[in-house]
Amino acid sequence: MISRVDLHLHSTASDGQFSPSELVAMALERNLLAIAITDHDTTEGVDEALEAARGTGLEVIPGVEISCDVPHEEVHLLGYYLDHHHPALRGKLRAMRDARLRRARGMVAKLSALGLPLQWEAVAELAGDGSVGRPHIAQAMVKMGYAASTDEAFDLYIGRNGPAYVERYKLRPADAVSLLKEVQGLPVLAHPLKVTHFLPSLMERGLVGLEVYYNGYSAEDIRGLADLARKYDLIPTGGSDFHGPDVLDTVEMGGIMVPVESVERLRALAKTRV
Ligand SMILES: [Zn+2]
Ligand SMILES: [Zn+2]
Repeated sequence: MISRVDLHLHSTASDGQFSPSELVAMALERNLLAIAITDHDTTEGVDEALEAARGTGLEVIPGVEISCDVPHEEVHLLGYYLDHHHPALRGKLRAMRDARLRRARGMVAKLSALGLPLQWEAVAELAGDGSVGRPHIAQAMVKMGYAASTDEAFDLYIGRNGPAYVERYKLRPADAVSLLKEVQGLPVLAHPLKVTHFLPSLMERGLVGLEVYYNGYSAEDIRGLADLARKYDLIPTGGSDFHGPDVLDTVEMGGIMVPVESVERLRALAKTRV
């Protein structure tokens, strides 16, 4: 069964396989009512998706997924209905993308020192117009025969505990919430299962939602997160975190059941903020 909404999608503007217009075409094929373009640290794909969806009845929600700086933990903040052209947002995200590039170069250098040389041009080409990320390095490693799959490349080399892993500059979670608020966005904690201890500090800054429905979460996980969302009066949201099968072979677009009510509540809240 396919969900009618998907609030977590990556395009070629970051490390997704499909362009924003291709994502829109796929969403229309699947009869979705609403999708959010939530690329890593960039809103560059939003306009193309809005343009592609014009007149189709599909709602494209401008979004972003901000990677935060927390040692040994993966904290990502989703922002919905934000002013994606806001100069404060663009400036901050550009600085983060530059840091991302320096980090990718650092990982390629470490792999080379490990006897696994990659051509930087080959990695950059995989990223196309988007920002270079670890999935691109993993794909280049598979192409060179250094790993059997992108998952293996992460497990053995570029995952958080891998020998070629490099940390990078990111925003602190609470500061990411404040940035999203500053640009009229609705901040939601992404794939929160292991990082719910951040909730009190994030809510203090204006967090409004929790990504309850997510790939790999069991029915019990989802129930627990839904209870937490109710307890803290957060909007339960969700999505597939779709990147495309060549990048991350996980769930397809619309493959995570998300209640339409999630979008209705976000939309209603966004309206009160204008
Ligand atoms: Zn994420
Ligand atoms: Zn994501």
